[in-house]
Amino acid sequence: MKTCQRCGYPIRGEAVEIDAFSSSGARPQMWRHPTDAGCNKATREAGPGATYTSPLQRHLGI
Ligand SMILES: [Zn+2]
Repeated sequence: MKTCQRCGYPIRGEAVEIDAFSSSGARPQMWRHPTDAGCNKATREAGPGATYTSPLQRHLGI
């Protein structure tokens, strides 16, 4: 499963690949959610321990 480099949660659905360059020339594949809302959604879905998001924030997608 792809994991978001930004929020650290698994990505369900669309993922954006991050261009990552290392000094060795290797290019490890890294992924992130397409949007901040995607990160917030994944955080919410992670469970009760996740950061609380108010209904208004949910509505605004932030
Ligand atoms: Zn994310």
